[in-house]
Amino acid sequence: MLLKITDKISMIQSELGFTYCNCLLIDDDIRAVIDTGADTKSLTEVLPENIDMVLYTHHHYDHTRGNPLFGQSKTFIHEADCEALTTIEAFTYYNSLDQWDSLMPGYDFLDAAAQIGILENAPFWSIDATFKDGQIFDFGKTKVEVLHTPGHSAGHCSFWFPDQELLFTGDICLTKVGPWYGEICASPDEMLQSIQRLIDLKPRFVTSCHINEISENGIEMLHEFKNRIYKRDERILNYLKTNPATVEDIANHHLIYRFHPTPFVLFWEKLMVIKHLHRLKRIGLISEDDEIFFAE
Ligand SMILES: [Zn+2]
Ligand SMILES: [Zn+2]
Repeated sequence: MLLKITDKISMIQSELGFTYCNCLLIDDDIRAVIDTGADTKSLTEVLPENIDMVLYTHHHYDHTRGNPLFGQSKTFIHEADCEALTTIEAFTYYNSLDQWDSLMPGYDFLDAAAQIGILENAPFWSIDATFKDGQIFDFGKTKVEVLHTPGHSAGHCSFWFPDQELLFTGDICLTKVGPWYGEICASPDEMLQSIQRLIDLKPRFVTSCHINEISENGIEMLHEFKNRIYKRDERILNYLKTNPATVEDIANHHLIYRFHPTPFVLFWEKLMVIKHLHRLKRIGLISEDDEIFFAE
């Protein structure tokens, strides 16, 4: 479904939730979309055969899954996320799926993947070109600036429309369950810096790939989103103060995700707990002895 934001910019609102996402359409002299993760019916409304350019916020499947509809378009992504889309081995590495067996003993990977509806298509695509931080795309009357905002993935980018004061934050998703930094190249430290950079832009209108609204309250939402990373640090640290624990023990206490409705959420909880443990160790607040973590 298309939701008009300005004369030239619309949100392609996905009729299916995760593992699909909302995308943007720029309907100008040059027609472009940012991400292709909406459901097929919604993507068909933008006439994919007449789209000149596809810009990707990052490599994840829920953002790139509609790529085959855009065979005529020139596709772009940040260079740090390019390789992830090239082969099944790269896809596995960049999504940390090679850690499934060690972190999820007893859970069948294919069953878990089927439960969240991924891997039904070949998850790798050919990309025509890469873009860099600060690069401007001029579509005619509309311009957009690429902002490299790593943390969610190494090449994650947000998109800033300066004339409309509109910021599209990609998977700095501003939902109740974010922020997510579960993959090998993700980093809560970089996520903190990226969110701060977006706050400093002072955007008037903000939206992301997983919310349906165009918010005028975006700066406050970004602050709250950033603080959740510190709150997760705090919950893990407080737990370790009374319970020296392994990654498995900590993950089973749901300190990041309140619910684990599918094995993938437990997997992400573990991957993200590990990121926090590295961070807390580096700051000197916890130590590790034979895979048991404890507060200093
Ligand atoms: Zn993502
Ligand atoms: Zn996403």
